[in-house]
Amino acid sequence: MRILTLLLSRLVLAVACLSLVAPLQGAVVQGVRSYRAPEYTRLVFDLDGPLTYELSQQLDPATLVITLEGSSFGGSFDNLSLAETPISSISSSREPGGDLHVTLTLRAQVEPRGFTLGKNEQYGDRFVLDLYDLAGMTKAPETADPVSAITSSLDDAGRRDIVVAISAGHGGDDPGAIGQGKLQEKNVTLALSRELARLIEAMPGYQAVLIRDGDYYVGLRQRTELGHKANADLYLAIHADAADNHEARGATVYALSERGATSEQARMLADKENNADLIGGIGTVSLGDKDAVLRSVLLDLSMTASVATSLEIGSALVQSLDKVTRLRRRNVEQAAFVELKSADIPSLLIEAGYITNAADAENLDSPQWRRRFAESLADGVATWFGKRPPRGTLIAWQQKHTTEGRTSVTSYVVQRGDALSVLAQRFDVSMDEIRRANGLKRDAIQVGQTLKIPASLILREHKIERGETLSQIAFEYEVTLDAIRAVNQLKSDTIRPGQILKIPTS
Ligand SMILES: [Zn+2]
Repeated sequence: MRILTLLLSRLVLAVACLSLVAPLQGAVVQGVRSYRAPEYTRLVFDLDGPLTYELSQQLDPATLVITLEGSSFGGSFDNLSLAETPISSISSSREPGGDLHVTLTLRAQVEPRGFTLGKNEQYGDRFVLDLYDLAGMTKAPETADPVSAITSSLDDAGRRDIVVAISAGHGGDDPGAIGQGKLQEKNVTLALSRELARLIEAMPGYQAVLIRDGDYYVGLRQRTELGHKANADLYLAIHADAADNHEARGATVYALSERGATSEQARMLADKENNADLIGGIGTVSLGDKDAVLRSVLLDLSMTASVATSLEIGSALVQSLDKVTRLRRRNVEQAAFVELKSADIPSLLIEAGYITNAADAENLDSPQWRRRFAESLADGVATWFGKRPPRGTLIAWQQKHTTEGRTSVTSYVVQRGDALSVLAQRFDVSMDEIRRANGLKRDAIQVGQTLKIPASLILREHKIERGETLSQIAFEYEVTLDAIRAVNQLKSDTIRPGQILKIPTS
């Protein structure tokens, strides 16, 4: 029987310092929570005060004993979920007047890392134990490495998908803001992110990657790193706002601020460790062989470009969101959020609404509202990338090939507010083509007048099925949302199952 005693150096230090002051009394463990992340299992022990601990791991049979000095157990393990964790059972025993031993029986070998956390607004003192999976770990949870999904993103002709990384804010021990009706931000952001991912996946030429797909914590830097690993073309961080003023409400879209970008460059360039990361380069530019000045110029250019692109995509999202929800600001705000600090990926942070406002909280808690919100985000993403698809993507290829081969006409009844120039833009034809097709001598058109539109040929009809959205249908037929709206003269994007849509060509 071999026993490994893992004493963290930090702990040794802590004990050494504390012995000069006063010995810790120990604490009462009030309860234990568990979270499963893709690479580790986290146990959080809620305490009534600080304590010191020691871990000792035994390999055969695999057990881990946590010694909490001078402490006692006042909770229960009954509600602890151990499914999909490497822990098969957990028990505690207390030496009379001494230490508390918590024994974990393990199904697989793990690498344990413990640390303590002090009181904050949400929680009291905590002892956190992370059990990292080692190779050959039992079965992986269904929230496997999100990045592994990327391998399937090329079509036969090598045209890749546009990758959208979606980062559900907070998670695990970090609930984020807590609002009306005890609604937790971490749950709202996950539900909204999953909905958005589902919609984006359903759009041909797009792929969604969930940075967090479960109730566990992912560090902010780790999130942007996962975005890079996924080769994301866009990074969307999903959050919900909170304010002391419960009247505050509405959604906000943020891009990185100038100051945030500048300080981030300074940090990246100063920080040796991060410089090591940067050696890989920004996008396709390798930085390893460049001198310090050139490196900083390249970084500056890259970051300026990605903030500019973020602002453009942000306004597409704001415009789209404006149709479905109240906005706190109608422009893209800028702030120094860590999650937005990718040098080469356009990044936006979306506060979907105020969890502290009764009306917003009700929306955030509603699957129907979340769906509308996610649909409008997906629409905004499709609108922007439809205009500026990254090179090598299926969307870029389609864009090149769908403007050719205009062969026939469809008819359109002129609505109030229509002008020839507006129609030309909407149907992606020239004003001249419309004039010619209709034998118009002047540009004045009248409400109720029927015009032939040369761009569109109604080849197909589509019967709407339950669960479909207008943007999905548009992508399925490789036409723009506007063209579908126009041909069917839709006043809103609300569609009903059973309804028949005309599908224009290109
Ligand atoms: Zn948040």
